[in-house]
Amino acid sequence: MKQRGVFITGTDTDVGKTAVAVVIVRQLVRAGLRVGVYKPVASGVSTAQPIASRDSTRLWEAAGRPLTLEEVCPQMFSAPLSPPRSARSEGKIVDEKLIRDGLIPWTTASDCVVIEGAGGLFSPLSDVSLNADVAGEFGFPLVIVDAARLGAIGRTLALVHAARAYGLHVAAVVLSQTHSVEGETVGDPTHGTTLMHNSAIDLSLRLENLPVAVLAFAAESIDPQINWVDLNP
Ligand SMILES: [Mg+2]
Repeated sequence: MKQRGVFITGTDTDVGKTAVAVVIVRQLVRAGLRVGVYKPVASGVSTAQPIASRDSTRLWEAAGRPLTLEEVCPQMFSAPLSPPRSARSEGKIVDEKLIRDGLIPWTTASDCVVIEGAGGLFSPLSDVSLNADVAGEFGFPLVIVDAARLGAIGRTLALVHAARAYGLHVAAVVLSQTHSVEGETVGDPTHGTTLMHNSAIDLSLRLENLPVAVLAFAAESIDPQINWVDLNP
């Protein structure tokens, strides 16, 4: 049977991928599935940074601590640069084979796997591979995340079209509210939450048959609910 799962990617770095991944993982865990979590490589992981704030830790906790934290993200580098540049600054290189092989323990131990890429879809994971190359090899449908701020329509449409031209299956779009919007005037169309919902509507109209959802800041669920395990092409 084909492995179920999703590959969470973004229009850019820092657009809220981990927040979306964590909510998807929790939803799948609540549905009674054994959920694997995998981040092939991470950079900008400072030793000074509290371990709990790391993407890999957040994913692992959300999944109920399956396997080991090391297996969630087998390759971490500290400089806040692309992974290959970050590795090089430590005199290392990103292990191309380990990017692929690191998924194996998860496919055997889980009913479905939630993978979070590093940076945007066309950001490099290693000297050779982009996120898009690895996502294509893994064969999981893409969930494209963008930050729910002005520009989301253009950024998201550009990435959906580029992903499809690259031969990838885009399964859903999620606009992720990366900051609290307290204090803004409700009803104002420039208000963060109104802008997020309107952007999702405008994207839906332009992306036929593609679910477009939103994740409000610190929300427990993605709206509307999506069945993440049945997205496989
Ligand atoms: Mg992240």
